[in-house]
Amino acid sequence: MAELFIGGTWTSAREGGRREIRCPADGSLVAEVDEATAVDASAAVEAARSAFDAGEWSGSSSLDRGRLLHRVADLLERDKADVARLESLDTGKRFVESEYDVDDVVGVFRHYGNVAAEDPGRLVDTGRTDVVSRIVHEPVGVCTLITPWNYPLLQTSWKVAPALAAGNSFVLKPSELTPATAIHLMKLLDEAGVPPGVANLVLGSGAEAGAPLVEDPRVDLVSFTGGLPTGKRIMAAASETVKKVSLELGGKNPNIVFADADLETALDFALTAVFLHSGQVCSAGARLLVEESIRDEFVDELVERAQRIRLGGPFDEKAESGPLISAGHREKVEAYVAAGLAEGAELRCGGRRPEDPALADGFYYLPTVLDRCTTGMSVVADESFGPVLTVETFTGEDDAVRTANDSIYGLAGAVWTKDGGRAERVASALRMGTVWINDYHPYVPQAEWGGYKQSGTGRELGRAGLEEYRETKHIWHNVKPAPQRWFKG
Ligand code: NAD
Repeated sequence: MAELFIGGTWTSAREGGRREIRCPADGSLVAEVDEATAVDASAAVEAARSAFDAGEWSGSSSLDRGRLLHRVADLLERDKADVARLESLDTGKRFVESEYDVDDVVGVFRHYGNVAAEDPGRLVDTGRTDVVSRIVHEPVGVCTLITPWNYPLLQTSWKVAPALAAGNSFVLKPSELTPATAIHLMKLLDEAGVPPGVANLVLGSGAEAGAPLVEDPRVDLVSFTGGLPTGKRIMAAASETVKKVSLELGGKNPNIVFADADLETALDFALTAVFLHSGQVCSAGARLLVEESIRDEFVDELVERAQRIRLGGPFDEKAESGPLISAGHREKVEAYVAAGLAEGAELRCGGRRPEDPALADGFYYLPTVLDRCTTGMSVVADESFGPVLTVETFTGEDDAVRTANDSIYGLAGAVWTKDGGRAERVASALRMGTVWINDYHPYVPQAEWGGYKQSGTGRELGRAGLEEYRETKHIWHNVKPAPQRWFKG
C-alpha cells in the first residue's frame, strides 16, 4: 500500500489515486499501486536535493560506490527468478526473456561497478611552473530518470547504475504500465546500503508524475527513454531551466540484406530482428531492405517462417513470442498496418489478431509482413513498435545506403554481406548509433548506445554513459601568488 520510495521511506501518494496493473497476456490483475502527483514529485526532488547537498553519497569515494554497485548486482542475482517473474507479469514477455534481461541488468551494474573509479581526471600542462592545473569530474547533482515499458528494468539500469557510479542522487519514474521491477530495485538499493534520499521512486503517469520532475528547478539533469513525441516535450520543458538532457528515443531500423550474404543466417536473424518481444524493441529491424535479385526467394521463406511463430503467455514454454503491452498499443499497430495497405503495401502474412480462443484475453497480434513497401509510407517511416515487417528492395550499395538513411531516425541498423569491404563501407555510411555487420541485436554494457538524428541525444552505456552523469571542472591553483600589476594604481 506504499509504493513510493522517498527519502529512504516507503510512502503512499499524498493526493493521487491507485492504478491497477494488469498482465497484457491475459488481463489478470497483477498489482495495484499508488499514483503520484506533483506534490509527491516535489517531495522526492527535495529528498534527492538534500541527500546530494549533504554529501554522504556525492562526496563518497568512487571505489566505495563501485563496490556498492557490485553488491546490487549480487542481490539481483540472488533475486533473479522473482525479478524475472515480476517483469514478465507486467510486460507479458516470455519468462526466459525476462531472465536474460535480469542477466543483462546484472552486467550493467557490474560494468559501472568496474568503471566508477576510472578516469578520475587529469593534470593540464599550462606552461607555467607556478600553477597546478587539473581537470576533475564531479556528479551532476539531482537526476530525473524516466523509463519506458518495453524493457522496464533494463532501461532503468542503464540510468541508475551510471548515475550512482558518478555520485548523483536521483528520482526514478518508471512507465505507469510496468512499475514492479522498479519497486523491487529500490528495495535492493536500500538493502545494499545506498543512503536515504539518494535513490527515490515516484510512480504515476507522465503528465501527473513525470512532467513535474522535468520542470523542477532543483533538478540538474533529465535522462529519458521513450517515444519521440514525449522526448520533444521533455526537451522543451527542460529548456526552461537549461537542464542537461539525455534522450533515448525511437528508431525505424533498416536490416540490409545483400544477395551475397549467408542467406540462411540472414533469414534467421531477420525474424529475430523484427519479431523479438513482438517488435516492441527500439532497435527492432522493422525495415527489411533486400537486394532486388533475391527478393522473391528471401521474402517467401521469411513469410513461411513468420507464420510458424507460436504466440503465448509468459509462462507457456512452447510460446516464442508474447502479446503487445496494451489494447491501445495494439490499436495503434493495427492502424499503421491499415494505413500501409491503403498506401499500396501487399499483406503477405498476419495483419490481424490470432483466432486461438486461448489468446483472446491478451493483446496479441500476429507476426505481419508487408511487401512492396516504399520509404514514403507511414508504416515504413514511423515507429509502429509492433510485430510488423516492411519489405523494400534496392539495387547496389549506393541505393541500399540512400534508402536506409532516408529516415528521421538513426538508432541502429544491420548489413548482411560476405564482402568485407562492402560491409565496412556501408557501416560507415549509415547514419546510426549502432551498426551490426552479419548480426542483429547484440549489445554489451561496455559499448555506447544511442541515436543519431531524431533517435536522441547523448549516449548510454560504455564510458560515455558515465560521462552523461558527470560535470567536468577545471581547478587552477596558483602555488606562488604574487601581484600582477596590470593596473598600476
Ligand atoms: P512514452 O514516451 O509514452 O513514455 C515513456 C515514459 O515517459 C513513461 O514513463 C511515461 O510515463 C513518461 N512520460 C510521458 N509523458 C511525459 C511527460 N510529459 N513528462 C515526463 N514524462 C512523461 O514511451 P513508451 O511508450 O513507454 O515506450 C516506447 C518508446 O520508447 C518507443 O518509442 C521506443 O522506441 C522507445 N525506446 C527507446 C529506447 C532507446 O534506447 N533508444 C529503448 C527503449 C524504448
